[in-house]
Amino acid sequence: MRIVALMIGDELLTGEIADTNSHFLAEKLFSLGYRLSLKVTASDRDLFYQLERLKGEFDLLITSGGLGPTHDDVTKETIEKAFGVKDSEERALVNPVGSASGTLITKEGYKIVLLPGVPTEFQAMVEMHMRELLGKKESSCFARRVNYCLLSEEKLAPFLQEAEERFPGIEVGVYPKSSAVSVVLRGEAVDKEFFDKKTDPLVKELYERFPTLLFPSAKGDMAEAIHEELLRRGEKLALAESCTGGAFAERFTRRSGASGYFLGSIVSYADSAKEDFLGVSSKDLKEEGAVSQAVVEGMAEGLLKKTKADWVIAISGIAGPDGGSVEKPVGTIWAAIGKRDERLYSGLIPLRKNLPRKANIERSIEYLLAILWRKMAFSITPFT
Ligand code: ATP
Repeated sequence: MRIVALMIGDELLTGEIADTNSHFLAEKLFSLGYRLSLKVTASDRDLFYQLERLKGEFDLLITSGGLGPTHDDVTKETIEKAFGVKDSEERALVNPVGSASGTLITKEGYKIVLLPGVPTEFQAMVEMHMRELLGKKESSCFARRVNYCLLSEEKLAPFLQEAEERFPGIEVGVYPKSSAVSVVLRGEAVDKEFFDKKTDPLVKELYERFPTLLFPSAKGDMAEAIHEELLRRGEKLALAESCTGGAFAERFTRRSGASGYFLGSIVSYADSAKEDFLGVSSKDLKEEGAVSQAVVEGMAEGLLKKTKADWVIAISGIAGPDGGSVEKPVGTIWAAIGKRDERLYSGLIPLRKNLPRKANIERSIEYLLAILWRKMAFSITPFT
């Protein structure tokens, strides 16, 4: 079945808002065993032209936006005109969370579904109606994911290229993130069991390739792997953040259930906060500076003293764009990781030069997640 998403709205083309509806739709369809063939984003003014172009290109067209009181008639009318829709071919679709109802148009050979653009309404209507609109099918799309941390795409590329030839019928996708890369295997199968059987040999090879870089996560997120592992072990984690300003903590707290292991983060941005809340020595702060090995170690020791955490991480660095110097240029970021009753590990985070502030922060967090995971799962010494 060829399914096309048509996202309508000028604000999507000016960058005013991000198109989260088609992302949600794609994920939902895939979870039901279907795949989007095409996504089109159209401005309100351009709608008729885009509809003309899409003729004959879909079995199911799902539109988002342009249904509220201000656009209602225009969008619907344009679609009716473009496809020559009769009244008898239309029926209203219930909107369980809003006032703008949707419309289902059933023509010979294809269907069009008009949904409102407000994300909560769009999502609720997709949840409510999609299964019925899709009907039954013989085979579905399935996916399996293998994640590696601290690995670049290039290291995998030759193997994957060759694997795709050896395993016809399995599509291999590679998705790099700053300190991780995910390999996603996709394919059609009658059921999940059949798909798993078909992909087992390749998954086994992928597991054996870099066994101590693997981490389990449905979306390739190392924080998810750590979240599950800490809950399983019943161990606690605490952070002390300077340059990441709380962003590191958010990687854990965005997940429900994080209170089961995450004690919290002390965002000790100023020198005085490092002293007052973590007991970092004023001598170290003065002589070595806030961005130094001695200070991150002091921060981590402070956490071990002041909390009951089993694992602690401290980070302090110059994220930029200002604040760099010859001795400590932007991107100089120190961190320390400790496990209670073991020694502390500390070191500089390896970062490329001249990264923007956001990238320095994000990459540092990804790197620390990776070395924490490897220490937890494979007893690999951090910063080696
Ligand atoms: P209404 O007019 O009742 O608000 P509508 O169906 O006409 O709803 P739009 O006016 O296009 O939809 O958009 C409503 C809201 O939803 C806007 O805030 C818009 O920015 C947002 N929105 C529209 N399309 C998308 C999309 N693809 N992804 C995320 N948000 C969207």
